[in-house]
Formats: sequence, structure tokens, C-alpha cells
Amino acid sequence: MHTNYHTHCDFCDGKADARAMAGAARAAGYSILGFSSHAPLPFATPWELEASRLEEYAETIRAIGREHAPGMEVLLGLEIDYVEGLCGPADGRFEGVGLDYSIGSVHYVTPSGAPRPSALALDGSGVPTFGFTVDESQESFDAHLASFYGGDADALVADYYAALAACVRAGGFDILGHFDLVTKNNRGQSRFREDTDAYRDAAMSAVDALAGTDVIVEINTGGMARGKTDAPYPAPWILKELRARGVGICVNADAHAPEHLAGFRDAGLRAAAEAGYRRLEAIGASGRFAIPLE
Ligand SMILES: [Zn+2]
Ligand SMILES: [Zn+2]
Repeated sequence: MHTNYHTHCDFCDGKADARAMAGAARAAGYSILGFSSHAPLPFATPWELEASRLEEYAETIRAIGREHAPGMEVLLGLEIDYVEGLCGPADGRFEGVGLDYSIGSVHYVTPSGAPRPSALALDGSGVPTFGFTVDESQESFDAHLASFYGGDADALVADYYAALAACVRAGGFDILGHFDLVTKNNRGQSRFREDTDAYRDAAMSAVDALAGTDVIVEINTGGMARGKTDAPYPAPWILKELRARGVGICVNADAHAPEHLAGFRDAGLRAAAEAGYRRLEAIGASGRFAIPLE
């Protein structure tokens, strides 16, 4: 049984409309497809769903669900940003939308030591001055690493995982997005080492926060699909630590285009099996259940 809960479309920064994404998922044999547009932020970005279109988004996804019933279940979700001190899935800002589930994701890092973004601090063009998203181009990542951290990538890594652990502790979501997204612009460990005690301790703070929760961690193949990474998130050693703590997983495409939906699914399933997982967690319209991993 194929499931995917991480799907973008042209309501946010996806390249295709929601109907095309659903059609591609159906053709690829998915039984459950969850849409997860980037939820509106308290400031404008080029990649989020506009707040004024939330209702239209919900209605469109529900209509697509009716078109594909009963062959494929289509769920309404959002990928909700956690920005330390500013917003997060626990705010309940989207409770009125009637979501089937949500993904909690950290894209933004806010340098510790800098003033917390309790009030919105934006420059003249609406760009936040309190931090930046690590989910960007290598060029932009490097520029922000220099301007916010003076090039100290280890400090950035510490702040990223502190935010991820805080996001988990705050809760309010079902699936944790792309656990080690901070490695996206670190191909070949070119910006920071991922084999140091400091890196391991930082990542483990988020692993430990997940222990005992019912949060599902996604194995995310979106970086591979976009040619940014050679393996899914999270790294194999993190998956093993998660399994040792009984944390459930699913495999998600983080698809921004139809061709992202199926291409790397096997890599995700392999990563799960290699970490010792025997089951995937699934969310359906009627609740949670498990899918055995063969
Ligand atoms: Zn994301
Ligand atoms: Zn996403």
C-alpha cells in the first residue's frame, strides 16, 4: 500500500496544479495522497499558500478527493512552519480549516543570541531580519551563513536542531518534516562535518524530544528528487536512533512536481528497512494504522 503525505501544488510553490498531482499519484499506484501546502506565515514569502486562499485550497482538495473516491483517498493537510518565538503548529491558527493532518517543519533558523522574533522584524521588502530558511539555494545559504553566523556553520547546526527539538516539544502536528534539512546545502560535508560529537549531540536533542510522542517522522525523498541530496532525510544513523526509541515513520516524497511522486520511493523504503523498521505508520480519513514493510 502506497501512501504519501507530503505533496505541494501550485497553491504554494509546487510546479503543477493539485489535480495533476493527484492524477500522477493515482497512476503511480498510491492509495492515500495527502496534500501539504506551505501554510501561511505571519510574513509574506514566495513559497507559502496565501491566507486569503486557504478556503479555496481546502475546497479544491476535498473536490479532488471526491473525484478519486474510492480508488485513492485524498487528505487535506498543511506543512506548518515552526519559527522559534514567532509561530508554530501548536498555535492552532489553522484549526478552522478542518485538516486531516499536518506536517510540522523547521525551515527557519533564528540565531541564538540575537533578539527573539517576538515581534515581526522585516526589512523594506518584507524579508525577515531575524533569521533565514535553510531550504534555499546553495548560494543563498552561503550568503546567510556568512551574514547571520559569520560563517560558523556549527552554530547554525546547533540552532537548527534546538528549533527542531522545540518544535517537537510544542507539538500540534502529526508528521515531522525533513528531520535533517540543515544538511541539504552541505553536500560532501562541505560546509560542516556531520561526524562530530557536536553534530551528533545537536541532532540527538531532537531525537530524544521525539521519544514517547506519537509524532511520525517522515523519510523524505524530496532532496533526492530535486538532485540536492544523494540519500533521503534523515541520515541512516538518525533513523536507527529513532527506531531504538520506538518512533514511527512514513515515507514521503515532498513532491513539488508529478515526477517527484514515485521516483525515489524505493530509496525511502530501503532506508526504513536498513534502519530495522518493520512497519510504516499511515494516516487515513478514519485515523492511524500501520502498514507492514515487506
Ligand atoms: Zn519543507
Ligand atoms: Zn514540503
